[in-house]
Amino acid sequence: MIPVMRPWLGEEEVTAAAETIRSGWVAQGPRVSEFERRFSGHVHNDEGIAVSSCTTGLHLVLHALGIGPGDEVIVPSLSFIATANAPRYVGATPVFADVELHTQNLTVETIAPVVTDRTRSVVVVHQIGMPADLDSIRQFCDDRGIHLIEDAACAAGSTYRGSPIGSAPGTAVFSFHPRKILTTGEGGMIVTPDGALAERMRRLRQHAMSVSASDRHSSDRVVIEEYAEMGFNFRMTDIQAAVGLVQLQKLPEMIERRRFLADIYRDHLGEVGSLMLPSDPPHGTTNYQSYSVMLGSSIDVNRDDLMRRLLSAGVSTRRGVMASHLEPAFAGGTSSPLPVTELLAARSLILPLYHEMSSDDVVSVARRLKDALGGEVAG
Ligand SMILES: *Cc1c(COP(=O)(O)O)cnc(C)c1O
Repeated sequence: MIPVMRPWLGEEEVTAAAETIRSGWVAQGPRVSEFERRFSGHVHNDEGIAVSSCTTGLHLVLHALGIGPGDEVIVPSLSFIATANAPRYVGATPVFADVELHTQNLTVETIAPVVTDRTRSVVVVHQIGMPADLDSIRQFCDDRGIHLIEDAACAAGSTYRGSPIGSAPGTAVFSFHPRKILTTGEGGMIVTPDGALAERMRRLRQHAMSVSASDRHSSDRVVIEEYAEMGFNFRMTDIQAAVGLVQLQKLPEMIERRRFLADIYRDHLGEVGSLMLPSDPPHGTTNYQSYSVMLGSSIDVNRDDLMRRLLSAGVSTRRGVMASHLEPAFAGGTSSPLPVTELLAARSLILPLYHEMSSDDVVSVARRLKDALGGEVAG
């Protein structure tokens, strides 16, 4: 059975975690600070704020920007559901925008129709690693005083016009869940060039405490902390950060490997004309966090049936990116029509792709997919 994904973890991560435990400092401390510095440096941004997940990171950014009840936040429905939940945590209303077919991303053309005078923020998702066209969206948002936030959960190692996703002047949130690219088990990172915002978020993630544990520890005086406002516990542990530091060093190799394997898929599936394969957009490069293919209209097969056929042929797949507005959690909400979102959600599936997958496995998945499509492929 070929799994759909597997994190790439080794003895170095084991050692880093063990050393942290032996050090006696396991909660947020020096390794988290170092991970913040290294990660933000890697993506060419000024500040890194480590958090417990991308979800809590999105929540924290929206809260720190003062977005709340009465405000609207534009998000793609086509995303993992956490994107659409984040505005709800602060009492704001998520407003769904459609996406562009080939990148599966928001564009100015899909955002513009749903902007109102209550729009305070747009959360752009770099869909399963595919960079969104940031410059035009940033210009659009800046012109209207709208905060642009990047949900870069899956996009570590992707690039936009030659710079890593997460670069300044963007404010972006990454995920380190094992389903993404580099992992700390659970975890996330906010990056931003805004020093004041970063400082406030660092306090808010630890109960809005005026002094951090490491500052208190390194002081030779008695320090009494203060809580100026309501905060959260969104901390990452030093054990996670130690693993993250090792994973970050491996990131370039992870991306290179995924792009190599994705090319093999293209070589072997390119001939199936009605299968839409992912590829780099003109404005950047994807990390192929997931390899999602869409069944074109000339393929007369139900997506879920195809997934079942592949499973019985020893290939594990997942449905493509979900449409949040179709989930019961968002029932009763209204949205403008989302035809591209609904097409992609119904007709896409994610094929296996992970670091230790062999070239032969990729060829074999491609062959089994073609077999499973059988006579239903028109050309
Ligand atoms: C996975 C994911 C999240 C949530 O990340 P967690 O770290 O698991 O909270 C948010 N947005 C997108 C687009 C994701 O893929």
